[in-house]
Amino acid sequence: MTETVQKQKHGFQAEVKQLLQLMIHSLYSNKEIFLRELVSNASDAADKLRFLALSDSSLYDNDGELRVRISLDEAAKTITISDNGIGMTQDEVISHLGTIAKSGTKEFFGQLSGDQTKDSQLIGQFGVGFYSAFIVADKVTVKTRKAGAPADSAVQWESTGEGDYTIEPIVKASRGTDIILHLREEETEFLSQWKVESIVTKYSDHISIPVEMYQEGTPERDGEDGEKIPATEGYWKAVNKATALWMRDKSEVTDNEYQEFYKHISHDWTEPLTWSHNKVEGNTNYTSLLYVPKKAPFDLWNREARHGLKLYVQRVFIMDDAEQFMPSYLRFIKGVLDSSDLPLNVSREILQDTKVTQSLRKGCTSRVLKMLEKMAKADDQTEYQTFWTEFGQVMKEGPAEDFANKETIAKLLRFASTHTDTAEQNVSLEAYVSRMKEGQDEIYFIVADSFEAAKYSPHLEVLRKKGIEVLLLSDRIDEWLMQHLTEFEGKKLRSVAKGNLDISKLDDEETKKAQEETEKQFAAVTERFKTALGDQVKAVKISHRLTDSPACVVTDEFDMSTQMIKLMESVGQKVPDVKPIFELNPEHALVKHIADVQDETQFKQWAEVLLDQALLAERGSLKNPATFVSRLNALLLDLSKKA
Ligand code: ADP
Ligand code: MG
Repeated sequence: MTETVQKQKHGFQAEVKQLLQLMIHSLYSNKEIFLRELVSNASDAADKLRFLALSDSSLYDNDGELRVRISLDEAAKTITISDNGIGMTQDEVISHLGTIAKSGTKEFFGQLSGDQTKDSQLIGQFGVGFYSAFIVADKVTVKTRKAGAPADSAVQWESTGEGDYTIEPIVKASRGTDIILHLREEETEFLSQWKVESIVTKYSDHISIPVEMYQEGTPERDGEDGEKIPATEGYWKAVNKATALWMRDKSEVTDNEYQEFYKHISHDWTEPLTWSHNKVEGNTNYTSLLYVPKKAPFDLWNREARHGLKLYVQRVFIMDDAEQFMPSYLRFIKGVLDSSDLPLNVSREILQDTKVTQSLRKGCTSRVLKMLEKMAKADDQTEYQTFWTEFGQVMKEGPAEDFANKETIAKLLRFASTHTDTAEQNVSLEAYVSRMKEGQDEIYFIVADSFEAAKYSPHLEVLRKKGIEVLLLSDRIDEWLMQHLTEFEGKKLRSVAKGNLDISKLDDEETKKAQEETEKQFAAVTERFKTALGDQVKAVKISHRLTDSPACVVTDEFDMSTQMIKLMESVGQKVPDVKPIFELNPEHALVKHIADVQDETQFKQWAEVLLDQALLAERGSLKNPATFVSRLNALLLDLSKKA
C-alpha cells in the first residue's frame, strides 16, 4: 500500500469550524489555557483507563503508573503533551476530534448571530477543549493508541485547524495519546520550561495524576578532593500537587484551585458562581464538591442533555453525568461525588435504586440547598440575582418535585411584585410576609401571559389601592408551580383571579356596611345581566376587586385557571369548557349607565360587549372576535348618532 492510499483527508463538521474561529477570536488574550485543556483531557483519559482496568487489569500492560508528560523541543518548536491513558481508536479519533458530540449542537450554532464578540460569550458554554490547541499552534499532530490494542493499530491525526484534517495508521510503541503542537512563530514563549511549569501550577495543580516535566541532569564534574562526581541523568518530575483536590483539606485549597478544578470537570470556561466542599463521615461516607455555574448551559431545557455529578469511588473515577444524585430541578449543579459506600464495580443500573444512592442524593441535595440559602441571605444580592436569572425557572420545578424540601425551596424562590413594580424577580416570600398588612392572612398572586399583563390586570385594582402587595407571575412554569405551592409559613397563596377575593377583613366596619348595601341594591341588576348573558357565564357578581375597570372575569375556585387552560392547549391537550364568573364594578359610570338602559335588546348588547372586553383583558384573545367588533360598532354608531 502506498502512503497516499493510507492517508485519508476528512473535513471538519461545520460547527467545529465555527467553534475554531470563535475560540481563536475570543481567547487571544488568554492563550495559555490551551495547556489546561490538553492536560484536562489527558487526565480524563487516565480516569477512563483506570475505570476499565478495574474489571480488566491486563489493560495496564505493566504500565499502571498513570501520568501526563509535557516535553519541549526548542529546535523543532514543538510542545508535546503525552499521556498513558485510554487512547483512541481510529473511529474515536474521527468522531472526537472532528465533530462536537453534544445533543442540540446544530440548533445552538444555528442561533449564533455572526457577531463574534457576542457569539464568543455564548460559546463559552461549550467549553474550550481540544481545539484550543490551535490558539498557539499552526499544526497539531495527534498520535494515539487505544489501551489493549496492538502497536500497529495506532492512528495519527493531523490538521492545521482550517477546513480539514488527515488520518493515517502508524505504529506507536506505547499506549495512550501524544499531542504535538507545532507552535506558531510568535508563540515560542511556550518553549520556556519555567513558563510552562508556571502555567501548569496555575491551572492544573489540582489534576490528580502527576503532570511531569523533564529535568536536566548534571554533567560529570570534579569533586573537592579531585575525585570525579558522576554525571546524573535527567529525570521526569511532577510539577503539580497530583492529589485529588476534593480529598484535600478545605483550608488548604485556594479559591483559584477550586475555580480551575471547576473548569476541568465542567468543561465550562467561566468561573463558577459559588461552591461547597464537604466531607461526611458516619452512616454514609462521602466527599462532595458541588458548584453552581454562573451561566445556564444552552441545553438546560433539552431533555436529552446529560447532566449530573462526576462519580468517584475511593478516588477512582467511575462515571460522568451520574444524574442519580441530584433531583431534576438541580440538574445545573456540577461537581464531584466520591463515596466509599459504593462498590467499585457499580453501574448505572445498580445505582438506580439502592439505599446508598438515596441517602447520597439526600445529602447532596441538602448541601446544594444550603449553599443556595447562604447566597440568598447574603447582604449583597448581586450573586443570588445572577443565579436566579439563570436558573430560577428550573428552581420553580422544585416544589412539585421535592416534597421533603418544599419549605426550603419556597424560601429560595423570587418573584416580581407590585411592591417593586419591575419585571425583575427579586421578591422572596419571606419579604412578602414581613410586609403583609394588618389583618391580611393570605399571600396574593396573579399569573398572566406577560409581566405587563400581570401588572396591569384589572384584578389588582382594589389591592393596589389598599396598598396590598401582589406577586406578579408570568413564566410558563408559574401556573404549574402555584398548583404545588399552596402555602407558605402557614399562609395560603391565593390567586387574585380565582374565586371570591374576600379582603373584607382588611376593611373597616363602615366600608363593609356600605358594600352590603350596594350588593342588596344591585341584586336586581346582576340578575338582569345573568339573564341577558345566559350560559356564557357561570354567575354574575358584584366585584370587590375593581376600582377603575367596569368589569372583569374570574375563575371559580375549583375550575381550571386561564393560564392552566392555555398551558394545556399549547401541548395539544383537550381542556374542559370553563365558564367565567362575571364581576361588575357597581361604582363605575358605565355600569351605572347600562343598568339604566330600558330596552332589553340594547341592554343585552351592552352586557355582551362588557363581557367580551373583560374576557379579552383576561385571556388576551376572544373565541369570536368578529362578533365583538360588530357589536361594538353597532354601539358606536348609536353613540355617534346621538352626538
Ligand atoms: P471534552 O473534554 O469537553 O469532551 P475536548 O474537545 O476537550 O472536549 O475533547 C474531545 C474528546 O476527545 C474527549 O471527550 C475525548 O473523548 C477525546 N480526547 C481528547 N483528548 C484525549 C486524550 N488525550 N486521550 C483520549 N481521548 C481524548
Ligand atoms: Mg476537554
